[in-house]
Amino acid sequence: MKLTRCTAHGKHLPYLGKTDALPQGANVYWDKDNECMEKDRLQELQLNRLKQTVKQASLSPFYQSKGLGDYTISSLDDIRKLPVTVKQDLRDAYPYGMVSTSIEKVVRLHSSSGTTGTPTVVYHSMSDINQWTELVTRCLFMMGLRPQHVFQNMIGYGLFTGGLGLHYGAERLGCLTIPTGPGNTKRQLKFMKDFRTTSVHVIPSYALHLADTLETMGVDPKKEFPDFRFAILGAEPHSEETRRKVEDFFGVQAFNSYGLSEMNGPGVAFECPERKGMHIWEDSYLIEIVDPETLQPMPEGARGELLITTLTREAMPIIRYRTKDLTSLIPGSCACGRTHARLERITGRSDDMMILKGVNIFPMQIEAILIGIPGVGRNYQIILEQKGHNDHMIVRAEIDPSINIDAYKGLERLRERITRELRDEILITPEVDLCEPGSIPVAQGKAVRVIDRRSL
Ligand code: AMP
Ligand code: ZN
Repeated sequence: MKLTRCTAHGKHLPYLGKTDALPQGANVYWDKDNECMEKDRLQELQLNRLKQTVKQASLSPFYQSKGLGDYTISSLDDIRKLPVTVKQDLRDAYPYGMVSTSIEKVVRLHSSSGTTGTPTVVYHSMSDINQWTELVTRCLFMMGLRPQHVFQNMIGYGLFTGGLGLHYGAERLGCLTIPTGPGNTKRQLKFMKDFRTTSVHVIPSYALHLADTLETMGVDPKKEFPDFRFAILGAEPHSEETRRKVEDFFGVQAFNSYGLSEMNGPGVAFECPERKGMHIWEDSYLIEIVDPETLQPMPEGARGELLITTLTREAMPIIRYRTKDLTSLIPGSCACGRTHARLERITGRSDDMMILKGVNIFPMQIEAILIGIPGVGRNYQIILEQKGHNDHMIVRAEIDPSINIDAYKGLERLRERITRELRDEILITPEVDLCEPGSIPVAQGKAVRVIDRRSL
């Protein structure tokens, strides 16, 4: 077998892009037994793990106060008898109210990306960290990453889970793993070139910013980064159109990765090479899709709020966590052979929804329109204001760097087209404000898409 990466003179040689065959002795993370388990065996495993999880969770002061130990679980449907957990519960239990083991067993904590108020903290034992790493490795292998690949992680390290979470998975797989974190765009691009990066993990809005930067520099990414093949897009909602833009510009395949810090972080659900929904790892997470108002289960295939119960966590099991994320389950089986359920792309959170003049609108609807119109750049922002008694929406959209900003007529036509297409989609007429490329600030982490000034 041909080795494509070796350690010579104590240095990594770069990925040579010749083959994806596994180097001799490399670990295979195609966990077929688990990933393709028959449904009834999977459910039996889930039931056993659910019983164990309820027992374990009942040890924490928070779930003790909820009387969790009094519930008997004899079928998976019994999950519906259990109380739900919301983000505020994690805040109220700060700092240690949700820990189910002795503190000595805890080896790490992560905290959610919220910027105000008491943070939410999630604790991990060594066994939790190992399980999490296994799941991430499983995702990466499924996508096509191999030990000889060079993986550049452009997502925040530290309290945010996207950095360390993916990092440990890529290292376990054996990839040369570059922990650049976000920002410092010029250095990111230099590293991609010099180390011949094959795959990146990146927030979609930052991927578009990288594209803008390259375009402004006049650099063709397909020539500059010939080994670049996979982009993992995660951490924030993004449209199918955004995925396509990233793929077309860089000449890569982009994979959707879903996770949240309360459920470890990345590694919860991930696309397989079929890329028709994200497999959610049901041996580790028990999922429900419910009506966000009534919490009643939605009919099969219908969109609702995702509730997740951890099935293997030790230090901080969480029962029926209300993610607020809106999705549905894709019916039928996946051509890849994996039996774990597939989640539809998450189009937004129930608390992302804007209500204007009584109309419900999600930022993703606006993104999908903007990104499909030629001449519109890659960054945008939505500003909500009150004008008299009326709600008013301003959509600020950057124009494409290739557009001549002085051609007044062309810009006016572009503005009119955006206004018309948005009105057809969201049923209200926004004010469209076109601005120069690079004029809307790029966040280091998740993009801030909506600024609501109505309550100020
Ligand atoms: P955090 O706990 O700070 O990592 O934030 C988790 C939240 O980010 C999730 O609950 C989702 O709302 C959002 N999120 C993460 N990954 C995705 C994704 N691939 N698509 C859409 N939303 C995502
Ligand atoms: Zn699949």
